Amino acid sequence: MALIVQKFGGSSVANAERVMNVARIVTETYAQGNDVVVVVSAQGDTTDDLIEKAKEINEKATKREMDMLLSAGEQISIALLAMAIDKLGYPVCSLLGWQAGFSTSSRHTSARIKKVNPERIRQELSQKRIVVVAGFQGINKYDDITTLGRGGSDTSAVAIAAAMHADKCQIFTDVEGVYTADPRKVKNAVKLSEITYDEMLELATLGAQVLNNRSVEMAKKYNVVVEVLSSLTRAPGTLVKETVKMEKMLVRGVTKDTNVARISIIGVPNVPGIAYKIFGKLAAENINVDIILQSVGRNDTKDITFTVSSDHAEDTMRILRELDFTSGLQIDCDDQNVAKVSAVGAGMETHPGVAATMFRALFEEDINIQMISTSEIKISVLIDKKDADAAVAAIHAAFIPEE
Ligand code: ADP
Ligand code: ASP
Ligand code: MG
Repeated sequence: MALIVQKFGGSSVANAERVMNVARIVTETYAQGNDVVVVVSAQGDTTDDLIEKAKEINEKATKREMDMLLSAGEQISIALLAMAIDKLGYPVCSLLGWQAGFSTSSRHTSARIKKVNPERIRQELSQKRIVVVAGFQGINKYDDITTLGRGGSDTSAVAIAAAMHADKCQIFTDVEGVYTADPRKVKNAVKLSEITYDEMLELATLGAQVLNNRSVEMAKKYNVVVEVLSSLTRAPGTLVKETVKMEKMLVRGVTKDTNVARISIIGVPNVPGIAYKIFGKLAAENINVDIILQSVGRNDTKDITFTVSSDHAEDTMRILRELDFTSGLQIDCDDQNVAKVSAVGAGMETHPGVAATMFRALFEEDINIQMISTSEIKISVLIDKKDADAAVAAIHAAFIPEE
């Protein structure tokens, strides 16, 4: 008998018919003699709808109350799925995050899982029940409800799999696995049979929402093999693991991220310590900076341009204004017109020329590059948002042969 963790995202439980479909997948797994822990997200667009409801009442709602509100989406899903499983004649118990033992940090709306104490889940399993757990939520040291950030249910599932040493962790979604690009946008996208943690982590961080990046980080840390597959078809999915068989693909995925802001400080003094002051302060406030560019300005000054997630644009501007050398300086923020497009693949580490191929693909589409950043396994460019889809298609066509 194996212990299997199965996670179902919002589209997999979007309506009554889909909930019954999930109940059938779960009970089939149970009927084969396995212990089954199921993690679910809020139905369909519930989380977005709840955010809109909050805005109608208070544009600046506190993060504590947002967590109270948003966690309700998952509460609905676990109850409905438990009812569906019961209807099929199987023993079942639904649990909220805190009941399932999720302790998190205190940071509301983007809490981190500190510990999972699966005692209650174990008790329920020992009673031969299927356990349905609300994803995306936990409780902090003040006994307040927290949520893990958008897409956080994936992380809930991997955390349970890690804490309970599950034999399998399956993430069911609305596509058949991880593809070389978003299969809804790029029609020649190819399903990958396997991908490494490192590649998946880059893809997830750079915009492929199929897995939440924290879930991949956690899977790598605890060596949980994750299978991404469809709840709607019964096709084999993609395995996310430490090493994969060598394939001849230099680039394993192309992604875009439109949740980006480009910020420029013009004419800062050309003296030591400026970059330290800017990026030290941003780091202290937990703001992650991505591409950084420094150029020489006029009259012994320099211009510093960098990107942050657009969710952090407002806070970043406030912090920059508070620095001791920025009064009177021009600080620009564009969080509407830029996008980051990236190519990811472990193969590029040992193959020169990948960047050149990518830049040629953009040139042939007449797409201008504003900023570039590279690491061993990825190349990202910042471009005009209106060119993003064309850029993804062109880069994909340059690297991934049509099947
Ligand atoms: P869920 O509700 O199951 O959590 P998400 O909407 O969070 O599902 O993630 C699945 C979606 O991710 C797919 O519908 C697909 O459009 C998108 N996606 C983006 N990039 C990729 C990729 N490289 N491979 C697969 N899906 C991708
Ligand atoms: N319901 C949450 C969201 O929409 C969590 C998740 O789907 O994983 O972000
Ligand atoms: Mg998701």
